[in-house]
Amino acid sequence: MSAHYTEQQLSFCTSLPKVELHAHLNGSLRDSTIRELALQKNLDPSLTKVLEKGDRTLSEVFQVFGVIHQVTTDHATLTRITQEVIEDFAADNVQYLELRTTPKDRPEHGMTKRSYTEAVIRGLRLAEQGCTTVVRLLLSIDRREDAAAAMATVQLAAELSPCVVGIDLSGNPTVGTWETWEPALQHARKLGLRLTIHAAEVYNPSETKQILEFRPDRLGHMCCLDDNLEKQFYDSLIPVELCLSSNIITESVGSFPDHHFLPFFQAGHPVVLCTDDSGVFETSLSKEYAIAAQAFGLSQKDLWQLSYQAIQHTFLSREDQQKLRESWNEHYATHSHTWN
Ligand SMILES: [Zn+2]
Repeated sequence: MSAHYTEQQLSFCTSLPKVELHAHLNGSLRDSTIRELALQKNLDPSLTKVLEKGDRTLSEVFQVFGVIHQVTTDHATLTRITQEVIEDFAADNVQYLELRTTPKDRPEHGMTKRSYTEAVIRGLRLAEQGCTTVVRLLLSIDRREDAAAAMATVQLAAELSPCVVGIDLSGNPTVGTWETWEPALQHARKLGLRLTIHAAEVYNPSETKQILEFRPDRLGHMCCLDDNLEKQFYDSLIPVELCLSSNIITESVGSFPDHHFLPFFQAGHPVVLCTDDSGVFETSLSKEYAIAAQAFGLSQKDLWQLSYQAIQHTFLSREDQQKLRESWNEHYATHSHTWN
């Protein structure tokens, strides 16, 4: 994406310790790895042509996701991409990462939801050996899944705790109905799993109302609200994960300055900047912070506050959150005297 920030803003944001709470494994994949895997798997070369192009349009984004889906069909690849994605976030000074992925039953590839997730966890363990970033997993329920598949994902998540800390609901926002997944999400809550829900990506007032009444621990996006929903959302004080580039590229929002980050932020509602799909959308968490700085006129202290406050919205225990704060406090003590 063309620059929507200055080099100085980017360099400041890169130096900040950061928390990433909304990152999908497949969407965070490096282009170079996609190309290499496509070659290994003898994919038609015309399919990967789209990777050569910067500033991707929405239809090009769908093409990239299509290629990723075709190359991530074996356990060794899942382990590899998990390790790489974590390394990339670590290199961007993300010190705590909640990575989400949808466990898939793919019998044609000898893959079950459990074997899929175990392959991802192997990648997480490998990455841990080389970097200090703390990583936890969220297992996603895809909106195309039925109640039984949703329940199977919840059960698996509970069995793989504490590496898995929560459940996400995601996928095509025009597919499915809330009633299908609510029992599984209620069950997840009873099992002590934390919950984050992609909500209001499209205008669907009855579903958005149901989600707000359900009171997940966090929400994702919240792009399409009317006055009533906005009031209900503000009253809820539920933290929201906001992904600026994602919302622009997927055409949910017209321009960065028009993004709902600003009214939410000005209202004092808890917000967390996140990437969504850093690979596919050609961004990084530092770039998202820099875009916010430029689009909304945030000071360096505002950016620090955003990053620091994100810690309390993680699905870590209070004790582990406190450990993160100590690292942030050290950074503050060394650098804050120069900030505007
Ligand atoms: Zn997402």
